[in-house]
Amino acid sequence: MTALMLTLVVLGQLLLAAHALRRGEWALCAALLALPLLLLTRRGAARLIAAFALVLGAALWVDAGLGFVRLRMALGQDWLRLAFILSGVTLVSLGAGLWMLGRRAQELFPRGREAEVPQAVAFGLTVALLVVARAKASVPLLLVDRFLPGWGWLEILALALYAAWLAGEFLDPERHRLLRPRVWALFSAVFFGQLLLGLIGLNDFLMTGRLHLPVPALIVAGPLFRGGGLFMAILFSATVLFVGPAWCSHLCYIGAWDDQCSRLGPKRPEPLSDRWKLWGRLAALVLTCGGALALRLLGVEALTAVLLAALFGLAGVGVMLSFSRRLGVMAHCTAFCPIGLLGNLLGRLMPWRLRIDRDTCTRCRSCSRVCRYSALSGADIEAGTPALSCTLCGDCIGACPHDSMHYRFPGLSKPAARATFLTLVATLSAVFLGVARI
Ligand code: SF4
Ligand code: SF4
Repeated sequence: MTALMLTLVVLGQLLLAAHALRRGEWALCAALLALPLLLLTRRGAARLIAAFALVLGAALWVDAGLGFVRLRMALGQDWLRLAFILSGVTLVSLGAGLWMLGRRAQELFPRGREAEVPQAVAFGLTVALLVVARAKASVPLLLVDRFLPGWGWLEILALALYAAWLAGEFLDPERHRLLRPRVWALFSAVFFGQLLLGLIGLNDFLMTGRLHLPVPALIVAGPLFRGGGLFMAILFSATVLFVGPAWCSHLCYIGAWDDQCSRLGPKRPEPLSDRWKLWGRLAALVLTCGGALALRLLGVEALTAVLLAALFGLAGVGVMLSFSRRLGVMAHCTAFCPIGLLGNLLGRLMPWRLRIDRDTCTRCRSCSRVCRYSALSGADIEAGTPALSCTLCGDCIGACPHDSMHYRFPGLSKPAARATFLTLVATLSAVFLGVARI
């Protein structure tokens, strides 16, 4: 029975690949052919991904079957045999998919059981977001599509697998603490690497060819000056909507630089004062927004505005190289960048929080020693909640020897809140890696 069901699982996926081939979608066919291979890993996530693909496939067969039958009826052709065959295919797909959700299949795919749901969800969400973004974009969004038109499905598959891997790794607090700076730095390196290649004439590595400065403050200042161009502002807002202020700990192309600079400093960061954290960034926010509006009202040329923005960006790099490197804190992000302040403030409107369990916390301050955002003073720990500058980076969670720090979300248990938050972060990390370029 088990062998029969596994055969049907593979057959169901092969039929989906054949359907893609019949429509001339070679790349989608190749991506679907890779799904049965995932089962060889015997990982729980591979089981759930196969189940999801088969159940979705059953819905697709119903839709395709109805279309074929209607066509044959309209042409006055025999349709009964076709309806019978496609009903059988639908049942095979649905039955095999549901069987993969059962206990026997669970026993056959025992590896990574604890992370199977977050990994499968990260895989599915990444595929869904990239498919929608690819379909809606006015230019080829994925790099593979630019060099091999139509083959972006393979990049979607690779990014979805990356998201699933990240989600699994991030679940462990210590692995998350070690991996986060590397993943973030990799994203920034890919982002700026593509910009450099674009600047030397390889236009395929640019988004549209309309260049703008990669300075986060321009996310608000740019639209204020231009009176349009809201793409980055929408992307930033959508990120805050999903994961609160985690833009500034996982996803910002410049924040990764500040993170690396702070890691060159002392192992134990020297916290910044509240005055700098709030007033420094507030002043920068007023300066950039007010300045952008003033430049627009004065009719200043775009080139002058670009030069001023470049100066602002260079000043930010100076803050990283001088303060962050010397103090071991992310001075640029917690005291200079206005977008960091916006992320913190808007993030407070979202329900994601980091909470300190005051019953188990011994006030040992191990968490403070790893927080590079100066969000864990003695008073913050006493209050059971980090300061406004917290970006939900999660470093303190793995550092607490008493398991007193947790991600929280109303209505979710601590493990569920952690798994949900990091699944979303892993998904966005993979999607950004695929689509973020200038
Ligand atoms: S504070 Fe600014 S530079 Fe730092 S991560 Fe946030 S948006 Fe990026
Ligand atoms: S309080 Fe914890 S989660 Fe928040 S920024 Fe500091 S180390 Fe990161």
